[in-house]
Amino acid sequence: MKVLLVFAHPEPRSLNGALRDVAVKELEAQGHEVLISDLYADGWKSEVDRADFPGLSPDARLVPVAASKKAFETNALTEDVKTEIEKLLWADALILQFPLWWFAMPAILKGWVDRVFAYGFAYGVGEHSDKRWGDRYGEGTLVGKRAMLIVTAGGWEDHYSPRGVNGAIDDLLFPINHGILYYPGYDVLPPFVVYSVDRFNEAGFEPVAERLRERMRTLATTAPIPYRRQNDGDYLIPSMRLRAELGDPGAAGFELHLNRGAAD
Ligand code: FAD
Repeated sequence: MKVLLVFAHPEPRSLNGALRDVAVKELEAQGHEVLISDLYADGWKSEVDRADFPGLSPDARLVPVAASKKAFETNALTEDVKTEIEKLLWADALILQFPLWWFAMPAILKGWVDRVFAYGFAYGVGEHSDKRWGDRYGEGTLVGKRAMLIVTAGGWEDHYSPRGVNGAIDDLLFPINHGILYYPGYDVLPPFVVYSVDRFNEAGFEPVAERLRERMRTLATTAPIPYRRQNDGDYLIPSMRLRAELGDPGAAGFELHLNRGAAD
């Protein structure tokens, strides 16, 4: 497989840097081809602004959605964004690796998504009408490809358990896994999360590294999270609400969008 790893940590000698090296080494040992987008090292520009749309006249109001659409359609996106889009089209699998910062991805990685997931490429794809709400959530430009997260967190695993005070990790990562990766079509694999990392030491590293190697060995075969596909009839059109008869009784929130039956 061809694998793109997008790395968002400012320090190559960090724990994240060490885990990245473990992942890449194992992927290459398995015969996969790996490309890395190292956002801090590359000086990635994270904010969406006028500089992204050089074709926009100086007195025109910047409407990011419209500007993104036009730039994508006319091949006028900036070169850094075009390069990342080419890498995404090249890769069979995408890995986003980052430390959990304020229960989310670091701003530089969010800015990579904001700029690279352009209108017409990652959203605004397919027919939008009263009969169909586009190609998304299981369909889209990146369908047939796999994606997964590698995340390090200072907090304890218990604190991220279903009754943990931080909220369940699957809930916290839902906007990324479902909203960013599943939306344009990726099959999203369960995340690889390392907890309590600020107390980490040499002795703790090897077991974690081995767990990560195993996830890299099974990148092509791990079952994806069974999110419901938007256009398979589970959702009403145009409200896009899940049909009343679906979902476990009492289920609410993010969990509703899992097709538990499909996972069994
Ligand atoms: P590092 O700081 O590089 O290393 C962590 C530990 O691992 C250190 O003890 C280091 O000595 C050791 N280590 C590093 N490399 C190795 C190696 N090769 N072998 C053995 N040991 C090694 N945490 C949460 O849970 N939730 C949050 O919302 C959250 N928000 C944060 C917000 C900010 C702005 C910041 C700075 C931190 C936040 N944290 C949060 C903590 C954060 O998630 C962790 O600090 C981060 O995941 C650690 O990853 P790192 O790569 O920076 O580790």
